[in-house]
Amino acid sequence: MRICLLASGSKGNSLLIESGQTRILIDAGLSARELRKRLALVGVDAESLNALLITHEHTDHVRGLGPLVRQLGLPVYLQTDLSRKLPDVGKPECVHEFVAGESFTVDDLTIRPFAITHDSLAPVGFSLSGEHGKVGIATDLGVATRLVVDCLKDCRAVVIETNHDEELLRDGPYPWKLKQRVRSNHGHLSNNAGGSLLQELLWDGLESVFLGHLSETNNRPELALGAVNKVLDKQNVCAPQILVGRQHLPMMWAA
Ligand SMILES: [Zn+2]
Ligand SMILES: [Zn+2]
Repeated sequence: MRICLLASGSKGNSLLIESGQTRILIDAGLSARELRKRLALVGVDAESLNALLITHEHTDHVRGLGPLVRQLGLPVYLQTDLSRKLPDVGKPECVHEFVAGESFTVDDLTIRPFAITHDSLAPVGFSLSGEHGKVGIATDLGVATRLVVDCLKDCRAVVIETNHDEELLRDGPYPWKLKQRVRSNHGHLSNNAGGSLLQELLWDGLESVFLGHLSETNNRPELALGAVNKVLDKQNVCAPQILVGRQHLPMMWAA
């Protein structure tokens, strides 16, 4: 199994999940050209992708969606009704709609989309399970609900959000209204909130934790790591590898 966070942050998000022969891209928040380049950096030909899943319609998650699907004829899975809000993918037969809470399969992976709270139309996180185990992703969420915790349980690897440091956000340059949006229940998880979520996900099968969607303005990698290490230092259930997502460079876990 392998997870490659191709890009993570407010300027663009995309990640690759590989399980056996199945290769799934989640979100396409870079240009199609840049996405192909990042895939090549981790040894993957874009033509070999099986599907693209979309979490929500914000530009930092769908920038390359239209061109990528048109170029590759790639099946794209998205929440019902989202297709009307998204760039033209060119081939209607490529679009598969799902409903949060209802699982579907792509090759040998069972994918469960689950609702998260964020200021977009019906945003979701995903868990993906197959013969090599389960992985999960939830970024762009204002609060980690019970549902999010339940859906991310028993994962070998998780991608969670540590968007901002609360003090840097408070004292930083964002206008007041934007600060309120980020810290609201429909905004983004802080480092401490990400740490609290991780606390709920600890089990002896947890091998890797990606910290994602870090703000370049209101966070620093060492602060996100510090918040998460505070949680990990207090337990001896597991010792996962921690990887901080980067905007300009792929980060990878393979096992
Ligand atoms: Zn968003
Ligand atoms: Zn985002």
